[in-house]
Amino acid sequence: MKLDATDLRYVTPDEFRVLTAVEMGSKNHEIVPTVLITQISGLRNGGVNKLIGSLAKRNLVSKVQNSKYDGYRLTYGGYDYLAMRTLSKRDSMHSVGNQIGVGKESDIYIVADADGTEMVLKLHRLGRISFRAIKQKRDYLGKRKSASWMYMSRLSAQKEWAFMKVLHEHGFPIPRPIDQTRHCLLMEFIDAYPLRQISEVPSPGKLYSALMDLIVRFAHAGLIHGDFNEFNILIRRETGEPVVIDFPQMVSTSHENAEWYFNRDVECIRTFFRRRLRYESTLYPRFKKTISDDGVATGDFRLDVMVAASGFKQKDMKILEEYMEAVKKDESEGSEEDQGKEESEDDETSEGEEDSDEDSDVGSEVDDDSKPKQKVREPSASEDE
Ligand code: ADP
Ligand code: MG
Repeated sequence: MKLDATDLRYVTPDEFRVLTAVEMGSKNHEIVPTVLITQISGLRNGGVNKLIGSLAKRNLVSKVQNSKYDGYRLTYGGYDYLAMRTLSKRDSMHSVGNQIGVGKESDIYIVADADGTEMVLKLHRLGRISFRAIKQKRDYLGKRKSASWMYMSRLSAQKEWAFMKVLHEHGFPIPRPIDQTRHCLLMEFIDAYPLRQISEVPSPGKLYSALMDLIVRFAHAGLIHGDFNEFNILIRRETGEPVVIDFPQMVSTSHENAEWYFNRDVECIRTFFRRRLRYESTLYPRFKKTISDDGVATGDFRLDVMVAASGFKQKDMKILEEYMEAVKKDESEGSEEDQGKEESEDDETSEGEEDSDEDSDVGSEVDDDSKPKQKVREPSASEDE
């Protein structure tokens, strides 16, 4: 999908009211009835239809004909627009540049502030892959049947923001988080190569130790990255120092599967160094030695506790985790055709949205055969949006 910064200028105040009405309506409606849009927007009926039409033409909303009623829903484009408008109103960002990454669950753009300083805008796109697994998990969402890509993507961005804030404040080598709204996160641009593009380093042993030390440092602070691999480690062009990115799956060291996640992070690095850099060491961190017996982090501060206190709710963390586990499970079990079929039956992917989940560039090569034990949990439904 293209982001068009010029759109930021071409939405009239009345169109904006209508678009906002669609967003508000979609909190309780998968398909927002036209009458409700009219009601929320507080504009006259005839006028609203025209305004919706012009938004639909630009793919900010899309029309859905339902057996019960006709209505609209916000598209990715519409949600992107609303988020970027907020960031731009806050003076956090001014213009949109090139897309530099398409992940399974995000789109990454270079953007700039008014001074021309480049930043990275990460648009979280959960739910682009498959909703089949989520359908089975609907109970967790309680009344929020329309939990949808919009809700999950927003949770993911909020979680990443909460973690990036505390990590950055405590001096971890990560991009500086700048702003966040809806499914978007704005952060510092790092002039670097992803580790996956690197086939030679001057001193593999030194980089290896630096990365393992980082895993240990995270754990001492009560955290496990959870996706610590060559895709999520950037190597600074100038200094060769590693910078870690991508935090939506971070877990606490007191998580029930903490050791499994920790070991997987360690294994990812060992495997990459062995295969790509022909470097192997008998030294690597062990979970039990890294944290104390009761699973408590041994460092001076507990970032997992700080994140919990930061306002990102434990309940939301659970919902997101259920989603991520479900998607992973679905990916490893479901065939492609299956997924396609399920998706078209499902009401939640917008028409015209691409399902470009084929991106060998981003993702993990880690063998996911050994799943963590999955306990059945019953997080309460989240209706407080
Ligand atoms: P995903 O969740 O889709 O994997 P990531 O946060 O890992 O998203 O980002 C995807 C890619 O975008 C990275 O591999 C990297 O190449 C690029 N990228 C992400 N954040 C930054 C950043 N702050 N600076 C430079 N490049 C970045
Ligand atoms: Mg990534």
